[in-house]
Amino acid sequence: MKRALITGISGQDGSYLAEFLLGLGYEVYGLVRREPQTMRWLQPIGDRLELLYGDLRDDTSLRIAFRKAWPDEVYNLAGQVFVPTSWECPAETFDINVGGLARLLAIVGREKPDTRVYQASSSEMFGNVDGLCNEKTLLSPASPYGTSKMAAHRLVQVYRDCGLFVVGGILFNHESPRRGLEMVTRKITRAAAGWVKGDRTKLKLGNLQARRDWGFAGDYIKAIHAMLQRPIPKDYVVGTGESHSVAEFVTLVLAELHRSVGNGNFTGPIEDYVEVDPSLVRPNEIHDLRADSRLAAKELGWSPHVNLGGLVKMMVESDLAGVREYLQEPVTVA
Ligand code: NAP
Repeated sequence: MKRALITGISGQDGSYLAEFLLGLGYEVYGLVRREPQTMRWLQPIGDRLELLYGDLRDDTSLRIAFRKAWPDEVYNLAGQVFVPTSWECPAETFDINVGGLARLLAIVGREKPDTRVYQASSSEMFGNVDGLCNEKTLLSPASPYGTSKMAAHRLVQVYRDCGLFVVGGILFNHESPRRGLEMVTRKITRAAAGWVKGDRTKLKLGNLQARRDWGFAGDYIKAIHAMLQRPIPKDYVVGTGESHSVAEFVTLVLAELHRSVGNGNFTGPIEDYVEVDPSLVRPNEIHDLRADSRLAAKELGWSPHVNLGGLVKMMVESDLAGVREYLQEPVTVA
């Protein structure tokens, strides 16, 4: 039975990956910083996991967790993930996102060099580029977050050159009902639940024209796993190849509300529901990001299964379930 250690197991990707690996028969260990009962997504599988306390900033806790897990595969998904926070706390972002990987790789190199390591690299490393991005596209990050991910990605290459099996998965934005509440897609679907309750406070957003390549996290963790099963360690870009604006995402959410609980409501325009708050517009905004995932398709056999419409439906339904519980009756808006 293979043993996997997942950092960031309490997060979106970590929880989907843990479910997936358990399904494949892995023994799954997860690094956590807080009490398991606060981790909603892990509750259904909690008794099948071994949770180990640790922090990417703390070398000793990582070493102890690594020795307990003694993993065949490490998935380093933990991180300071929010771009605006990386502007507020750039040094902390680097300590977690770069220092954390450096600590892990040093431990792997010293203790068990045959362990395979996945690093969660990001499309934010590309910065503002024209057109599709692949594994050879120049990295030119536009935020401390993107720069930290680029530094960690370079470290992947350095340790790979020294003989470790380390890969960087360059994943484009992927969402789900488990997406962090601070992220734009989840902010919108959460606000939508409020709109259904009759709250007409407009949601404040940054640049509505920013375009992103959004996929479903449940699809992406399969690519993550596949990268560690290859004979040779290599980095892969993973995304859908399509980009959509934040405004289009809001429009799709309203259409979904109209379809599921509308009774003639939620027909737009989106300006009735959202407004631009200039303080939320990112310095150095990335305008458009799109993945060229042909290598992942060819060598990992990976392709996305859930399209943007399906993703929006899933996220809206999940956030509406909370409203239904709140109202304790089916939501029907007059
Ligand atoms: P997420 O839901 O925000 O999860 C982040 C995880 O990191 C949480 O489990 C969090 O633990 C943990 N963490 C944060 N700081 C830590 C520290 N100092 N020590 C140990 N654990 C720490 O993020 P996600 O969407 O699953 O993303 C997973 C990884 O993929 C991240 O590295 C992210 O940068 C990268 N990525 C994500 C996307 C995307 O679109 N989702 C795209 C490209 C790359 P707590 O619960 O204790 O806070």
